[in-house]
Amino acid sequence: MEAAAAAEAPADLLARVWGFDAFRPGQEEIVRAVIAGTNVLAIMPTGGGKSLCYQLPALAREGVTVVISPLIALMRDQVRALKQAGVEAGALTSGNTDEETEEVFAAIDEGRLKLLYMAPERLASGGAVHLLKRAGVSLIAVDEAHCVSQWGHDFRPDYLRIGELRRSLGVPLAAFTATADEETRAEIVTRLFDGQAPESFLRGFDRPNIHLAFSPKDQPRQQILRFAAARKGQSGIVYCGTRAKTETLAQALREAGHAACHYHGGMEAEDRRGVETRFQQEDGLIVVATVAFGMGVDKPDIRWVAHADLPKSIEAYYQEIGRAGRDGAAAETLTLYGPDDIRLRRSQIDEGLAPPERKEADHGRLNALLGLAEATECRRVKLLRYFGEAAEPCGNCDLCDTPPDLFDGTEAVRKALSAALRTGESFGAGHLIEILLGSENDRIRQRGHDALPTFGVGRDLTRPQWQAVFRQMMGHDLIRPDNARHGALVMTEAARPILRGAQSITLRRDLVAKAKSKTVAKT
Ligand code: ADP
Ligand code: ZN
Repeated sequence: MEAAAAAEAPADLLARVWGFDAFRPGQEEIVRAVIAGTNVLAIMPTGGGKSLCYQLPALAREGVTVVISPLIALMRDQVRALKQAGVEAGALTSGNTDEETEEVFAAIDEGRLKLLYMAPERLASGGAVHLLKRAGVSLIAVDEAHCVSQWGHDFRPDYLRIGELRRSLGVPLAAFTATADEETRAEIVTRLFDGQAPESFLRGFDRPNIHLAFSPKDQPRQQILRFAAARKGQSGIVYCGTRAKTETLAQALREAGHAACHYHGGMEAEDRRGVETRFQQEDGLIVVATVAFGMGVDKPDIRWVAHADLPKSIEAYYQEIGRAGRDGAAAETLTLYGPDDIRLRRSQIDEGLAPPERKEADHGRLNALLGLAEATECRRVKLLRYFGEAAEPCGNCDLCDTPPDLFDGTEAVRKALSAALRTGESFGAGHLIEILLGSENDRIRQRGHDALPTFGVGRDLTRPQWQAVFRQMMGHDLIRPDNARHGALVMTEAARPILRGAQSITLRRDLVAKAKSKTVAKT
């Protein structure tokens, strides 16, 4: 078991233990350095995902990782979450019951423990070093490392003992903080690392040369072909949700005169390597791929990345678009999304084998991604905020280029919700829109839906406009498709205040208008 855990790749641990599909910016590099046993100082914004940077290496390494943290409540939360995920973790803090402490000692004695959380006060007691030696500690992780700074607001005298602990255990140390000012950093290096410079990770997450854009799916293949045509001769990647689509889309691109090939995990290893080599060496090749493509690709001049389908999460999105423009020159991205993507993702989460809390967290992460897709202001501000970093409007995203036309969508949303509720939350968007438009079709008459008070109350909007309203409602998680009932739309708790009239909602009209002008062009 131990040996197997040691051999597991970081990305596999990330998926198996945490259920995450990609590292956040900065995490992977830090995780690799810590696993390798390097002394590390990592500065990440709050909410950036620091804890994973020592928790994952703790599982990948032999022995016990001791985590020093000043926040007892946070330690207890983390231990609880780790245990729930099946990780042997324990804490020694003043908040412990005798039982909890005994349990920790038992786990140490049996050599089961992987993570031991400890309050700094504990280091003051003589037995601490002896205990940690006996426990087989092979790594020290220090959370809130700025607490070692005597000039800071959070100074903890007991943090001064950590340097000594490191010397007597003779193991690597990884220090984490969100406080990045230079003096504090210098003090951390002096006090925790005896002045021996650790490998430092201090990097803004932003990739300002990458242009960000999202677009609702309209005629998705045409959208991708148009995007590629405007960038003919440049190297690019198109990510698709399915293997089959990579093949058909690559074919379509070739027919449009591009050099394009497909790539997915179902191909022979040799064929995959062939594509990788070609992409590396050739200029202007387009690779149409599933997410299997990219890990081993280190091409600095990828000029664009398009998503023909919605990525899995913001983390995955960021990792995938981040393959463009590594040389620092301008690069462009386009991400397509539609109601089908949302339906598919929701059902993948609901039908998965994960425990309920994890499913809820997965829905939450999907909501964050959809919020980015349906954003009304600078996408980069929203993206970086998700990773804990503050930013100003960037001037290099579709919403900065063309600020969207917004309107108060409260009335439209209430009408739509009312149509769903009055029909028992048993129908999809198509049928609900027909009710709102007052269509006299058989399906409506047979069910008596023409007698509903909501019948025909939505004639002020066109069918494509209603489609855009429903898509945005799904994007804001006001309604969710129930896959057990053929995608019938069910209202969520988030929609209740809007229905009650206690909250209003702003929608983007540009998307609505675009959809409308398309039907105008058709007729
Ligand atoms: P902090 O840097 O403030 O200590 P945390 O470690 O508490 O941040 O992480 C913040 C949040 O980000 C947590 O909810 C965590 O589950 C989530 N998170 C961390 N890494 C990832 C990842 N790779 N993918 C998705 N969510 C992540
Ligand atoms: Zn912007």
